[in-house]
Amino acid sequence: MKTLAGVFLLLSMGFGFAQGHDHKSTRALSFPDVPGYVTLKTDLHQHTVFSDGEVWPTIRVQEALRDNLDVISLTEHLEYQPFKDDIPHPDRNRVFELALQEAKDHDLMVINGTEITRGNPIGHCNAIFIDDANKLMQQDSILQFAEAKKQDAFVFWNHPNAEWLSPTGNPIWTNFQEERLKKGELHGIEVINAGYFDEASLALALKYNLTIMGTSDVHGLVAWDYIEKGNSRPVTLVFAKEKTEASLKEALFAGRTVAVFNELLVGKEDVLVPLLEASLHIEKASYLESTTILEIQLRNSCSSRLLFENATDFEFYGIPPLLEIEAGETKVLQIKTLETLNRLDLKLKAIACYTAPKTQPIAHWEILIH
Ligand SMILES: [Zn+2]
Ligand SMILES: [Zn+2]
Repeated sequence: MKTLAGVFLLLSMGFGFAQGHDHKSTRALSFPDVPGYVTLKTDLHQHTVFSDGEVWPTIRVQEALRDNLDVISLTEHLEYQPFKDDIPHPDRNRVFELALQEAKDHDLMVINGTEITRGNPIGHCNAIFIDDANKLMQQDSILQFAEAKKQDAFVFWNHPNAEWLSPTGNPIWTNFQEERLKKGELHGIEVINAGYFDEASLALALKYNLTIMGTSDVHGLVAWDYIEKGNSRPVTLVFAKEKTEASLKEALFAGRTVAVFNELLVGKEDVLVPLLEASLHIEKASYLESTTILEIQLRNSCSSRLLFENATDFEFYGIPPLLEIEAGETKVLQIKTLETLNRLDLKLKAIACYTAPKTQPIAHWEILIH
C-alpha cells in the first residue's frame, strides 16, 4: 500500500489529555533487548526503481542507517515492472547485490527478498532469505511458492486487508492460503503495512500461527513518507538468539516478533510484555515525607511513546489513572499506597499495544522501596 492511514491520528485523538506535545520522530529507532534475546529492528518490505519505487537501492541502505535499523530487505515486485523500458532488469538479484555492496562497511544486514505480486486469491507475498529471485519468475504461482520453499524462504502475506484486494477491508482467506499453509509455504502476515493496522489480519495471525509482521512498504523517501509527517517508519522487531542471519531467520519462523508503528505495538504476549518491561525503567522509589504517597521515577528507554492505564491495586495521586511517557522521557509518578510498603507490584495496561484484537497486555514491575 502506498498511503498512510490515520492510525496515528486516531491514537492521538484518543488521548486528548496529552495535547501540547509534538510527536516529531526522533528518527533513530531504539528498543532494548529482552531476557534471552537481542532485539533486531527490521524493515523487510521496501521498493526501489527496480520495481515501482522511486529511489536507487543505495538510498534504502542510507535511510536504514539513519533509522538505526539492523536488517532490511528490498522486495521488488516480480510481476510489476513499470520502469523496465529504462531499467530492463534481467537479473532480479541485482537490487540485493547493490544494497549489499553499499552496506558492506556498516552494521546492517541485507536479506535477499522479492514480492510475488498477483491478483486474488493469491495477492501479494514477500519471500525473503531467497538464494535466487530469478528462479521465482514462474507463470504458475503454485510453482513460485514451491520454489520459495525449495530455497527455504520465509514467506509472508502482504497487506491482505488492502481495499483494492478486499472491498470489505478484511483479508480473504481462501483454499489457496490454506494449501500454502499446509505445504509449509506461508509463514507470516502483515498486521501493519505503511501505517495501516488491521485487527482481522492479527486475528488470522493468531488463528493460523503466522508470524506478526509490520513493514513500511516504502516506495518514495522514508523522510518524506514518514519522518516529515511526524511518524517513524513501521518495523518488525525480531527477538533473535544472536545478531546473525541464521538467528534472525530462526526467530521469524518461531514467530518471536512485535510489529511497531509509532506508539502502536502488536505482538504475542510472551514477547510484547518482556519488551514493555525492558523499555520502562524504575529509577527510584521512595515515600514523600510523612505520607503514604509513593513517588516513583520512571524512564522510557525505547523510541516509542508509551501509553498506560493504571492496573495496580492502588490509585495514582493527583492525576487520572493514565500514564503517558515520551520516548527517552523520565517521569515521576505518585501512588497512594495507603500504608507504608517495602515492595509494590506496579501493574500497567499498555493501551496502545495489542496481543489480540481488542486485547491489551498488562506488564508488571516489582518495585523494592527503601
Ligand atoms: Zn504489495
Ligand atoms: Zn510492496
